[in-house]
Amino acid sequence: MAAAIICCGLMAFGQRCRGVTGADYLPDQILIQPKKNISPGALTSFHAIRQTAVLKNFENLGRLQVLRVPKGETVASLVSKYQQSGLVEFAEPDYIVHSDATPNDPKYLDGTLWGLNNTGQNGGTPDADIDAPEAWDVLNSASNIVVAVLDTGIRYTHEDLASNMWVNPVDGGHGFNAFTGTNNMDDDNGHGTLVAGVLGAVGNNGKGVVGVAWKVQLMACKCLDATASGSDSTLIACIDYARTNGARIINASLDATNASFAVSNAIVAARDAGIIFVASAGNGFPPGAPANVDVTPTYPACYPIDNIVSVAYTLRNDNLGTYSNFGATNVDLAAPGDQIYSTYVTSDSSYFPTFSFLSIAGTSFSAAYVSGAFALVVARYPAEDYHQIIKRVLSTVDPIPALVGKCATGGRLNLRKALSPPINLVSIPGTNGLPFQLQVTSGANRSCVIQSSPDLFTWLPIFTNTTDTNGVFDFLDGDSTNVPQRFYRAVAAP
Ligand code: CA
Ligand code: CA
Repeated sequence: MAAAIICCGLMAFGQRCRGVTGADYLPDQILIQPKKNISPGALTSFHAIRQTAVLKNFENLGRLQVLRVPKGETVASLVSKYQQSGLVEFAEPDYIVHSDATPNDPKYLDGTLWGLNNTGQNGGTPDADIDAPEAWDVLNSASNIVVAVLDTGIRYTHEDLASNMWVNPVDGGHGFNAFTGTNNMDDDNGHGTLVAGVLGAVGNNGKGVVGVAWKVQLMACKCLDATASGSDSTLIACIDYARTNGARIINASLDATNASFAVSNAIVAARDAGIIFVASAGNGFPPGAPANVDVTPTYPACYPIDNIVSVAYTLRNDNLGTYSNFGATNVDLAAPGDQIYSTYVTSDSSYFPTFSFLSIAGTSFSAAYVSGAFALVVARYPAEDYHQIIKRVLSTVDPIPALVGKCATGGRLNLRKALSPPINLVSIPGTNGLPFQLQVTSGANRSCVIQSSPDLFTWLPIFTNTTDTNGVFDFLDGDSTNVPQRFYRAVAAP
């Protein structure tokens, strides 16, 4: 846990201190590094006086020691006593380190899936990604969320998809085929299986890739044939199937140039059922000639219906994708969509591209990133409606210079912030001698605790509240006028 810290020193000239970063530490241990030239006996004597026990010695790390804090002593006080003893290079709390939720899927570990975690591999820009590992520390499973993939079908027996397939409780199938009217939705093209893997390939199974959501329920709705083509009627049939069979999110990595009253009505019906509809903004054709969809619309991305989230794609350097359509009004955000690697259709253990000289890109895949993110956000905030969920994702994008004027938010998906909005604490300018005022800002409806400390070591909760729909609450510390100085930080409520 790290948090911005604010200090009030009202009695001390009303100064405001600069923010520093705080962290939690073990309450009963500290670390000390003995000075090189002191005698071991002097340190042992000091330990005895302070009643500390040496728990561990690191002889090869400058004789670093882990000490037990005796009863009745605090970490802050003991650290201070050792620092003043003249016997140590340093003494410090034993700060807590958090483990990261790292999935063991080989193509994640080797850096192929740059959009999830970009450290600059293969010429990319570090952090031009959705911050997936940090987000997964918060939540990586949306196991009860059904996402309908409106596409060419899904190879539902694939080793990295099978356990994430939705199961129809009536017929045991995994979706619907709008061409045959049956539940045989096997993929005869490959596109749908690629999209499904980006969105929700099984995470941490030691195989292949990992989806944005490690666990999710993929409902395959086949509205595109073996040539990846369909029509408004197959699209409508799949939207209707998704709506009547419990989907919370629809991923539509497809586009048409003509608007349809019937498709628009089907999406409105889905909205009325609380479904979020993620649409790819489309790719420029011919390649290299992406369209401004505010001028030349694509559908369904450009229907003016408020449950539609339309998506452009970014490159590994956070530039707009070479083929990506864009639109300051009709495109909402961007997500990674270039040099994609995902589950493929040719066998139950196939992935694409097969050879490194092949490459796939496009808004089909960035839409899948966004749908996977929505699955996790819906899982985390189950009581919120589609409007609130969409706001969480769109209000937490990373602003990207290349996206200014290219989409409504001007930003690229950031899953970490969508799942766990940063908590900011600022002081509200006041008058010397009057109680100190603070303002917390974070995501909507977030429970936060304001803690105070006299010395940056001992922190006590003094106020808990939940942010409003704008993500804000204020706090007036009536006790602040009674102390010479007080530090504050805000953290997420447990
Ligand atoms: Ca990152
Ligand atoms: Ca996997």
